[in-house]
Amino acid sequence: MGIQMNRPREPFKVGNLVAQPGTRSSGYCSLEIDGEALELPVVIVHGERPGPVLAVTAGVHGGEYVPMVAVREFVLGLDPTAIRGTVIASLQSSPLSFRNRSPFINPMDGKNLNRAFPGNPNGGPTEQLAYWLWSNVISRGNYFVDCHSGDIPEVLDNFAGVCPVGTPGIDDASLKLASQFDISRVVLVETEGSSITAAAHAGIPSVLVEVGGEGRWSPPEVAVQRDGLHRIVKFAGLLNVDSEPRTPLPGFKSQRVMCESPGLWFPRLAPGSSIEAGALLGVVEDPFGAVLQEARSPVPGVLIYGLSSLAANTGDLIACIATPM
Ligand SMILES: [Zn+2]
Repeated sequence: MGIQMNRPREPFKVGNLVAQPGTRSSGYCSLEIDGEALELPVVIVHGERPGPVLAVTAGVHGGEYVPMVAVREFVLGLDPTAIRGTVIASLQSSPLSFRNRSPFINPMDGKNLNRAFPGNPNGGPTEQLAYWLWSNVISRGNYFVDCHSGDIPEVLDNFAGVCPVGTPGIDDASLKLASQFDISRVVLVETEGSSITAAAHAGIPSVLVEVGGEGRWSPPEVAVQRDGLHRIVKFAGLLNVDSEPRTPLPGFKSQRVMCESPGLWFPRLAPGSSIEAGALLGVVEDPFGAVLQEARSPVPGVLIYGLSSLAANTGDLIACIATPM
C-alpha cells in the first residue's frame, strides 16, 4: 500500500495528446480513416489528485454550434489544480461535418455518427470515427455528457435525453446528470447506435443535452450547457464542494413525424408549443402550392424540435413531439 500511495500520478493520454497531473492540455488528436487525415480538437483537464473521469463530446453533429462553444468555455474555465480526477472534452467530434457545414451526417460516407456507436475499427469511415471516440473518450468516463443542439435546418425547445437500461444505479445517476441543466424536460431515448445508448449499456451514467439550433450559438443558450456542465463537475465529485440539490426533470416519451414526399415544408407551430392529438404541425407542398402532406401530431404533448428549412425530403424528420410519461 505504501508503495502505491507514493507512486506519482500518471499523465492522462487521449491519442497523441498528453496531460500531466495538475495541468490542462489542448491540442489536435490525429487519426487517419481510409487514407484521410482527421484532426480532432481535444482538451484534457487532468487533476493533481485521482478521482472520477468526466467525458464530454460536442460536435458529433458538425452543424450544431451551441455545444462547440459551450464545451470549449466549460473546459477552459476549469482550474486543473482544483479538480480531482479528469475531464476529457472532444470539441468537434466530426471535424469534416463541421468544416463542410454538413447537417446530420459525416460527409465521408453520408452516415449519421450518432447512430454508429460504439463503432467498429474495421467498419466504414463513420464507424471508425465512432470507434475512435468510443475507445479514446466516451468509454473512459465514469460519467458521459453528449452535447447537441438542433442542426443547421432544425429548431428546438431545450431538453435532455437519457437511455434507461434497467439498472437503478445507472438510470438514477443519468437522470441526476440531466437535472443539472436549466431545462424543462427529460426525454427517454433508446435510439440504437446513439452515444448515450452505447454508454448507458456499458454501465456509464450518461446524458444527451439539446440546446438551441439553426446554426446559431447565442450566449444565453451557450450558458445553459456550460453552466450545467460546471454543476456536473460538482455532482460527479471532481471538486471538493457539495453539489446543490436539483429538482428532478419531468420525464417524456417522444414520437417522430416524418416527411412523406419531397417538397416545401411550411411549419405551423413553434417549438415548445403544447398540442392536442391530431393538431396540424405543418404542410408539405409541391413547388406550385398543391398540398402533398398535412403533417399531424399522432399524440398530445409538446413540440420539442422540428425541421426549419423550406426544403424537405422523403424520410426527413419534420417534427418530434414529447408526451409526459
Ligand atoms: Zn445532434
